[in-house]
Amino acid sequence: MENLGTDTLKKHLAKRTKTIAIVVHTNPDGDAIGSALGLYHYLLLLGFKQVAVIAPNAYASFLQWMPGNDQVLIAENDMDLAQEQIMGADILFCLDFNGFARAENLAPALETSKALKIIIDHHPQPEAGFDVVFHDTKASSTAELVYLFIELMGDKTFINRNIAECLYAGIVTDTGSFSYGANHPRTYEIVARLMALGVDGSHIHRLIYSTYSPDRMRLLGFCLSERLVVKEALHTAFISLSIEDMKRFNYQEGDTEGVVNYALAIKNIRLAALFMERDDHVKVSLRSTGSLDVNRLARQYFQGGGHMNAAGGKTHQSLQQSIEDFVAMLQENKENL
Ligand code: 5GP
Ligand code: MN
Repeated sequence: MENLGTDTLKKHLAKRTKTIAIVVHTNPDGDAIGSALGLYHYLLLLGFKQVAVIAPNAYASFLQWMPGNDQVLIAENDMDLAQEQIMGADILFCLDFNGFARAENLAPALETSKALKIIIDHHPQPEAGFDVVFHDTKASSTAELVYLFIELMGDKTFINRNIAECLYAGIVTDTGSFSYGANHPRTYEIVARLMALGVDGSHIHRLIYSTYSPDRMRLLGFCLSERLVVKEALHTAFISLSIEDMKRFNYQEGDTEGVVNYALAIKNIRLAALFMERDDHVKVSLRSTGSLDVNRLARQYFQGGGHMNAAGGKTHQSLQQSIEDFVAMLQENKENL
């Protein structure tokens, strides 16, 4: 656990008139939105009146049930307002990302803002530029760290059901329902406390994982039956989707969430990838098991990053070329697979 400057932050938070902005990474996932809204509710309870929650772009409908969701500003819909709120903030919380570039369109505002900048995150290799660092790669999720942060501030008793639901959603999604990144007792101790505050785990699980549209379910079937390539000798499986494929299934934000994990669920597969064609690039998602470090692969080959077993990035090659390059890269790294 890296914990720098939280005493300074405590002093800043003592003045409830300050303006606060909470920002998450681009393509926000359950942990980004859950941790941001959990923190948002806490700051409101402390008495802050001006707290903005800003996401660089839109996110999946299965995350939109969280309390406070209607308060999230999607920056790409109103860039001027988002930049204004960041530049005008006294205190800026950066949640679930380790460098300003991960907020893409908001990065320049984050860099130039004169606010006190706080990072709460669990991704490896956090960058410089933050005044306060609350960071632990061992944490299951940023949501877990927000819980610990509130505890550190001496305000555990403030955690109510709204906060608990948001933080629980962050923990559940970032651990694939406790199937990875959740080998520490602390995560379960926190979850137990959230449950005691009234979180209905099965209800939330259903809201997140069992609200597929028929199109989304068919897209999953199509990925597995028509687009899955298994390279057994390389212990790798990957799926690629063209823009046309996605149009066919009326693709909506979040529809491919979790698809890459199916490729990793094949026996003896240690590396899985999902390639998704976008207008001007190909988005790449990587997953691995054990000590195979996809954060390193994403940084080296796809201008990206992430965690050891879950990372992402992009390439500006065509979809076909991206796949050919990926297979060539696998051959080069054969001995590590
Ligand atoms: P996903 O594959 O689900 O988009 O992302 C998996 C993990 O990799 C997440 O922890 C996410 O924050 C990280 N990640 C995804 N895309 C990028 C990227 O372009 N750059 C960096 N640094 N991390 C990414
Ligand atoms: Mn996370």
